[in-house]
Amino acid sequence: MSKEVLETAVAACFERAEARFGRLFKRPGVSLDLRGRAAGQAHMGKGLLRFNKALYQDNRQAFLDEVVPHEVAHWLAWQLHGSRIRPHGIEWQALMVELFGLAPKRTHDFELKERTFTYHCRCRQHQLSVRRHNKVQRGDGQYQCRYCGQQLKAGLKG
Ligand SMILES: [Zn+2]
Ligand SMILES: [Zn+2]
Repeated sequence: MSKEVLETAVAACFERAEARFGRLFKRPGVSLDLRGRAAGQAHMGKGLLRFNKALYQDNRQAFLDEVVPHEVAHWLAWQLHGSRIRPHGIEWQALMVELFGLAPKRTHDFELKERTFTYHCRCRQHQLSVRRHNKVQRGDGQYQCRYCGQQLKAGLKG
């Protein structure tokens, strides 16, 4: 399951930090409940590193390589320097560069790929947007294939 892969990546970051600093760090929980455009969030109050499941599913390797160290670096910076530091200030930047060997970019360049739903007619498969799919499901709209004229049905062509 994909959450375990993320948890393993988080643990590897902590092990690296603990070896480097010669001390243990309090570790956060990991959740996949972040929504919207942000890829990740380090939430001290909740004791969580939160990740965006939809973005993770489309960008797995980048999450493991960049987003996880980015959020762990926030967590470490707070433990090393206290919560008054600027989130992407020099303390966090130093951890990104010196501990993880990464460029200290503030944001991640992920585009959330728009989800689509598969429909079919007699001649081919079609992808409907979420908006159109919801219309069909509510009974507010029907769509015809522009090639064969048949009404689209949900699901894969059988
Ligand atoms: Zn950040
Ligand atoms: Zn058709």
